[in-house]
Amino acid sequence: MSYFKPDFLFEHFSDIKLNWLEEQRVKHIFSDLDSTLTGHGKLGDKKFENWLKSLREYDIQLIILSNNSQGRVDRFTEPYGIPGYGMANKPATTKIKGIMEEQNAVPETSLFLGDQLFTDVWCGKRLGMKTVLVHPVNPEHEPWNVALKRKLETLIRRRW
Ligand SMILES: [Mg+2]
Repeated sequence: MSYFKPDFLFEHFSDIKLNWLEEQRVKHIFSDLDSTLTGHGKLGDKKFENWLKSLREYDIQLIILSNNSQGRVDRFTEPYGIPGYGMANKPATTKIKGIMEEQNAVPETSLFLGDQLFTDVWCGKRLGMKTVLVHPVNPEHEPWNVALKRKLETLIRRRW
């Protein structure tokens, strides 16, 4: 089950501080969107904007990887001009390896950030990156299929 075990756990993305990212030698953060950086269908909030600003100050590139549509990703990324990829096929890695090349990212200095074990954490592990699991933002407003997946995740976690 260690394939689903994240390297680090944080309550919220904004708890991931810059000095910690520097210690971990992170240059690229590949992040899930929905329930990780914002609620389902929602845009970035003030916390996100401040966090992004600090990443930029430290020259850390944030890249959005979502299994949701490109349209959804674009609505989120456009105000900030950050790269974002929809239909990312997580936890499959072929498409994302291409994206890593495009972004000049290597696994050793990349971090995968997400709220789901089966898609985000597993995907990051398969890519050889460090993985961070966060608690979902607004869990009470999730679609039913995401809620179901979380129940399965809870069962898996008990066996760690
Ligand atoms: Mg998510």
